[in-house]
Amino acid sequence: MKYDVAIIGGGVVGALTARELSRYDLRVVVLEKESDVAYGASRANSGIVHGGFDPIPGTKKAALNVKGAAMMEALAADLGVTYHKNGSMVLAFSEEEMATVRKLYERGIANGVPGISLLTGAEVLALEGRVSPQVVGALRCVSSGIVCPYGLTIAAMGNAMDNGVELRYEYAVDRIEQKDGSFSIYAGEECVEAAYLINSAGMYADRIAAMVGDDEYQIIPKKGEYMLLDRAEGDLCSHTLFQVPTAAGKGVLVSPTADGNLLVGPTSVAIDDRECRDTTVEGLDYIKQAAGKSVADIPYRQVITSFTGVRAALVGEEDFVIEPSKKNGRAIHLLGIDSPGLSSAPAIAEEVASLLRDAGLTLTPKKDFNGKRDSYHVFGHLSDEEKNEWIKRDPSYGHMICRCETITEGEIREAIRRNPPARTMDAVKRRVRAGMGRCQGGFCTTYVAELVAEENHMKPTEVTKFGTGSELLTGLTRGGN
Ligand SMILES: Cc1cc2nc3c(=O)[nH]c(=O)nc-3n(C[C@H](O)[C@H](O)[C@H](O)COP(=O)(O)OP(=O)(O)OC[C@H]3O[C@@H](n4cnc5c(N)ncnc54)[C@H](O)[C@@H]3O)c2cc1C
Repeated sequence: MKYDVAIIGGGVVGALTARELSRYDLRVVVLEKESDVAYGASRANSGIVHGGFDPIPGTKKAALNVKGAAMMEALAADLGVTYHKNGSMVLAFSEEEMATVRKLYERGIANGVPGISLLTGAEVLALEGRVSPQVVGALRCVSSGIVCPYGLTIAAMGNAMDNGVELRYEYAVDRIEQKDGSFSIYAGEECVEAAYLINSAGMYADRIAAMVGDDEYQIIPKKGEYMLLDRAEGDLCSHTLFQVPTAAGKGVLVSPTADGNLLVGPTSVAIDDRECRDTTVEGLDYIKQAAGKSVADIPYRQVITSFTGVRAALVGEEDFVIEPSKKNGRAIHLLGIDSPGLSSAPAIAEEVASLLRDAGLTLTPKKDFNGKRDSYHVFGHLSDEEKNEWIKRDPSYGHMICRCETITEGEIREAIRRNPPARTMDAVKRRVRAGMGRCQGGFCTTYVAELVAEENHMKPTEVTKFGTGSELLTGLTRGGN
C-alpha cells in the first residue's frame, strides 16, 4: 500500500505531526527505529514548556515557542497528559547577571511572551523560600509550565493511531529511493512507499536529509545529564528555577516535574556518540556544584535515578530548520530541533501541515476526527467505592504490581494493549510509571515482565528492556519453553 505521508521519527515532533495530519483524510505512517516512541531527545529532557523569552526575536524558535507554549495547556487536557503552569524564574546573583535578566525581559516583550515581570531579590525569596539568599532579582514568567515529555509523545501518537495513523516500530530507515512521484523508504529489505515524506529523525535528521540528496547538514550531539529526586522533595520549589543563560545554554535548573519529583540538571557537553545514555561522576558533580548557586541545600540523598538526554545541535545554525528539501519539495526536513523543541512541537506540527499543503498535498478534514484521549493511570485517583466497582468488573485492578507507585495489574494490561502498544519493560514504565518509584523496579520487574510476555504473546526470554539486544533473561534455569 502506498501512503500519502511517511513520517520518519516518533519523537514529540513526529508524534504531534502525525496527530495533526490525522485530522485529514490521509494515509499516514510513522517509521520509528526503536521499540517505542519517544526514544530520542523526547525521552530525556527537562520537560519545561518555556515561555519563549530566550530565543532571539524574529527567529522560528521565538515564534514557534511562543505559539506552542500557548497551545500546550489545551493540548495536554485533550490528550489526558499532566501539565502544570508552574511558572519559571531566571535568577540573578549579581548586578551583571541582573543586566542579562533585563535583556531577557525585553526579548520576552519583543517575542510577545505573556505574563513576564521583573522581581527584586526579596520578592523572589517571598515566593521561593529555598532560593539562596544571595539572589538579587529575577525574571518571572507565569506562562511557562511543566509536562512529561515522553508522556506527551506517547499520548499524541496514541491519539494519532486512534484516528487512523499507522506506526512501525524497529523500522530504522537506511535508504530512500525516489521515483514516479513517490519515495521508497527502506529499512534493510523492508520498504514503505509514500508520496510525501517528513524527516523528523532528530539526531539522525542530517543522515535522512542526505538520503534524499540534501547532504549539507551536520548534527552534533550535545549531552545533558540530570539527577531526579524522590517525590518527597517535589515541593522544594514551585517555579522552575533557571540560572542566567551562557554561551553553553540555559544552564542548570532546579524544577518540580509534572509527576511531582524534583529535577536537577542538565549539563551541556558536545560529544561524538549520538546514542549516549550514560551519566558520569564529573557530570553529576558539576550539576551539584552549579545548582548549589540557586538552592544551597538540595538533599541529594533523595536522588532516585540519574539520566542523560542528547540534544541534536545543527552545525552553523542556531535556529530550527523546517523547510522543504532543495532536491524534492515533497520531502520536508526538520533539523536542529533542540530546545525549545518540546515547547514548540504543537506549533511545529501545524507548520509542517501547512508546508505539505504548499507542496501540493490536499488536506480534506475528516468528519470523525476525535482529538481527545483518556489518560493512563486513573485507578489510584478513584474513590474507594469506584475502586471496588472496577475490581468487581475486572479483578486484575485489585492486584497491586508496583508498590511504590501503586500501579495495578489491570492498569499495566491496559497500557500494553492501548495505542501505541507497549512491547518492552521501559514502554510499560513510561506509560504507567510501574518501576519508576523509589525502589526503581526492585519488586515489580518480574511481574511486569510476565505481563509484557503474556499480552504480547512472547516467550519470557523475548522480553526486553528497550528492544532487541536488551533481553532481560538469557535462558531458562528449569525446563519450560
Ligand atoms: C538535555 C535536554 C534538555 C531539553 N530540555 C527541553 C525543555 O525543557 N523544553 C523544551 O522545549 N525542549 C527541551 N529540549 C529539546 C527537546 O527535547 C527536543 O527539541 C525534542 O524532544 C525534539 O523532538 P524530535 O521529535 O524532533 O526528536 P527526537 O525526540 O529525538 O525524535 C526523533 C526520533 O527519530 C527516530 N529516528 C532517528 N533516526 C531514525 C531512522 N533512521 N529511522 C527511523 N527512526 C529514526 C529516533 O529513534 C527518535 O525516536 C531538551 C533536549 C535535551 C536533550
